[in-house]
Amino acid sequence: MQLGGQPVIILREGTERTRGRDAQRNNIQAAIAVADAVRSALGPRGMDKLLVDSLGDVVITNDGATILDEIDVQHPAAKMLVQVAKVQDQEVGDGTTTSVIVAGELLKKAEKLLDQKIHPTVIVSGFKLASDKAGEILKKIANKIDPEDEKHLIAVAQTSLNSKSTGSAKNILAEIAVKAAKSVIEEGKVDLDLISVTQKQGKALQNSELIKGVVVDKEVVNSRMPNSLENPKIALLDIALEIKKTEFDAKIRISDASMMDAFLDQEQNMIKNMTNKIKDSGATVIFCQKGIDDLAQHFLAKDRIMAARRVKKSDMEKLAKATGAKIVNNIKDLSAEDLGTSGIVEEVQIGDEKLIYVKECPNPKSVSIVLRGGTKYVTDEAERALHDALCVVRDVLEDGWAVAGAGSPEIELHKGLKAYAGKIKGREQMAVDAFADAVEIIPKTLAENAGLDAINILVELRAAHDKGEKNAGIDVISGKTVDAFEEGIIEPLRVKRQALLSANEAAQLILRIDDVIASKSMGEAPPGMPPGGMGGMGGMGGMGGMPPMM
Ligand code: ADP
Ligand code: MG
Repeated sequence: MQLGGQPVIILREGTERTRGRDAQRNNIQAAIAVADAVRSALGPRGMDKLLVDSLGDVVITNDGATILDEIDVQHPAAKMLVQVAKVQDQEVGDGTTTSVIVAGELLKKAEKLLDQKIHPTVIVSGFKLASDKAGEILKKIANKIDPEDEKHLIAVAQTSLNSKSTGSAKNILAEIAVKAAKSVIEEGKVDLDLISVTQKQGKALQNSELIKGVVVDKEVVNSRMPNSLENPKIALLDIALEIKKTEFDAKIRISDASMMDAFLDQEQNMIKNMTNKIKDSGATVIFCQKGIDDLAQHFLAKDRIMAARRVKKSDMEKLAKATGAKIVNNIKDLSAEDLGTSGIVEEVQIGDEKLIYVKECPNPKSVSIVLRGGTKYVTDEAERALHDALCVVRDVLEDGWAVAGAGSPEIELHKGLKAYAGKIKGREQMAVDAFADAVEIIPKTLAENAGLDAINILVELRAAHDKGEKNAGIDVISGKTVDAFEEGIIEPLRVKRQALLSANEAAQLILRIDDVIASKSMGEAPPGMPPGGMGGMGGMGGMGGMPPMM
């Protein structure tokens, strides 16, 4: 800025500023670096990454969202791309790697257009046209999936599990995911919070199971109580079954033995009244959110009532949903109508821990999944995989639409967008054309990661699609081009649509920036991190302690 020939400095000293093409180039390079980092994780033949955080904790994963969550990205444009993965994960639960890779590729193509002096706003508006058209094309090639169509729902879950290291447990996990999601469906919506997942080390992933009910991480409070009951009557109590302690120390002067007895009798009576009330309601099992003292335990055990105490509030709510019981907070109100039921309640010992399984509920609106596996690395990655599987099943149950996978929709998009570009006048045409080329990165990467000849496969796939085989994709497990839908490689329409939307949004955001003003503190890395300022930083900043395998 100049004022009467004298430069006016408006920024604090040490502030770094990059503008115009330099700023753009720098941002684009940083975002591409993030996309390149996750590319090798795409698809069933994608590689796992071993991530070590600054505290030395290890995560082994090939889940795009997790990779990006764990690595410590510093460049602001790179952060935007990480954000894409997060949005994708929250909105639809799968397709995170895809969205980031496509965003990176869009930016690579945009870079070329910028070199040809196409203005960023033209690119942005061309990308917008292309993204809208892509939505239409996807809708057109999608297939309707009925909620009762378990075969295809399981295929959807399996497809998302294909790219996880769950190996031979894939079929079991897919089946569990479909059954779980279907049991909590209400008015067309699937609330995944009603499905709880518990990890228990020991045995193998194949031994994971779906409990039509709730697994409560508590043991039966007293060993004299029954530890297994069929067709139980379940009461849920938000009541302390104990003598209320006085707020302050009280002294009771007892002068003879009869007074002592009378005092104890009174305490006993209060507890006895409570447990009688429980027994009279017909309850045979109680889950108590508060404490149960020794005396109450004694009476309950005598009445053959099973009890657990200090049960978490969230578990109480799940128990209510699963068994149909009502949570009662005044013992006087407890009646037979408040009780719920299940096929069986039993205490189960896993390793050196005891849990209570409330199983075989007649129509549970809340279910539990118990994941088994040799080590925590296995069960952790299985839980992430299961999360994706549950999400894709939910997406299809809620929307009713799915598309074939294995790169087939992207080839179809390429074809459709190329044709569409031809009809567009003006320079936007070039951006639409670039978008069409960019989406092909998905089949290309799937093939590359499987060690196949990507160019040959693209040629083959394009030819098949030109003949009208809209589901022709590359099955990277067999290495053959197949009808992906027939082969059961199926993905939710919502995942594909959202992946393109979020990729496009991130690319637009980055393209619109032509001025980066970074105050000094931004460039200062936290202790132990490599410095990662804006200046001249072409790639990712501090990837805290990442081993050099990416
Ligand atoms: P994302 O994080 O994007 O979901 P994934 O690593 O899960 O990435 O890979 C998803 C991609 O893998 C999708 O394009 C899907 O169609 C593809 N895919 C799944 N199973 C197969 C298969 N057997 N052959 C080829 N591609 C597959
Ligand atoms: Mg996936």
